[in-house]
Amino acid sequence: MSQVQTPNTYDAEPIPEAARAEIDRLLSSGDLFRYTATADAPVTLLEREFAEAMGSRYALAVSSCSAALFLSLKALDLPRGARVLIPAFTFAAVPSAIVHADCQPVLVECGANYRIVLEDFEAKLTDDIGAIIISHMRGHTSDMDAIMALADARGVPVIEDAAHSLGTVWSGRKIGTIGRIGCFSFQSYKLLNSGEGGILITDDADLIARAVIMSGAYEHNWKKHDGLQAAFERWQNRLPLYNMRLQNLSAAVIRPQLGELARRVRDGRANHDYVAERLNRSSWLDVPPPLAQELRAPDSIQFNLVGMSDDEVRVFLAAAEAAGVKVSVFGMSTDNARAFWNWQFIEGGVQELPATRAMLMRACDLRLPARLTQPELDVIVEALIGAASAAMEEDRAYGT
Ligand SMILES: *Cc1c(COP(=O)(O)O)cnc(C)c1O
Repeated sequence: MSQVQTPNTYDAEPIPEAARAEIDRLLSSGDLFRYTATADAPVTLLEREFAEAMGSRYALAVSSCSAALFLSLKALDLPRGARVLIPAFTFAAVPSAIVHADCQPVLVECGANYRIVLEDFEAKLTDDIGAIIISHMRGHTSDMDAIMALADARGVPVIEDAAHSLGTVWSGRKIGTIGRIGCFSFQSYKLLNSGEGGILITDDADLIARAVIMSGAYEHNWKKHDGLQAAFERWQNRLPLYNMRLQNLSAAVIRPQLGELARRVRDGRANHDYVAERLNRSSWLDVPPPLAQELRAPDSIQFNLVGMSDDEVRVFLAAAEAAGVKVSVFGMSTDNARAFWNWQFIEGGVQELPATRAMLMRACDLRLPARLTQPELDVIVEALIGAASAAMEEDRAYGT
């Protein structure tokens, strides 16, 4: 065991060898713009393959998941200043996309299990809410049955921010296909890695047509998106062009990874569940269980520190780092982009959200890529359990 080095949890997996031939072809032809080829450009093929894998009718690949969220809001044609509900536990890019779309984020409390507090969601889903973005933050799915029932009853569209949830299944349905639009990320810390990139999926012809045009399909480039002639003609020249397209090299990097997805999901879930089961044996560490309808696809693990004071949390973090495992507590690391009080760009300020704050002050975040081996996972588990004991048991024994 002592020979196993503490794993680097930030390194990505290599890009499959199969990407090389296509990248070479693109480099020698210089054909990098998605709309140059008459048909079957790598970006078009990626959209076709991704839509098929998700079982959705349409897909649009763009420059990031943030761009996908922004275009989703624009495609919904919300009035300027429309209020958009989001969970308070998410990444700063999500309220930022709302601000970018000239809308106003409204934050909903999240509980100790990282999921939306339904009572607060229901209370804040008032008549002036124009849309809902559900961030499945770190792959944790909130109760989508309850959320969709409440949203549908009021006719409010739901956008799923599935940036970190590709491969998750809810009651047999793929996450990202439950709301009107689903958005995914290809940034390097997500399950499919092209450095940067994103994609949105929907079954709604007018929404996709609007998003395609606004993503930068100027003039008649929309003709390279199949089967939407009538919808495109309705929107020709009526929408701004934000130029958030994906380029062919990125698509060439992602396409061969689609075949790796099932394995990454399976290994990531097995790794997560192995570590979760062991951490839960410590009385100081708690990994909340998934909801009954949820089959997760995690590439990281979150757990709560139980019964620790702020000082004890600091001892835990220092001891874990000394053992080679760098964990962060969302709310205790400086300037964390997932702590709502740091979103000072939101006009009018952010109201206090005590449940979410309490969770963020004790919730730990650790990447757990699918490529890790069991001995590497054991090193991580031992470091974390040892650090919790250092914070709590020695602490108490010496009365400090
Ligand atoms: C990464 C992430 C985003 C942003 O994705 P980008 O492609 O980097 O814009 C948004 N929401 C969540 C939940 C994320 O994890």
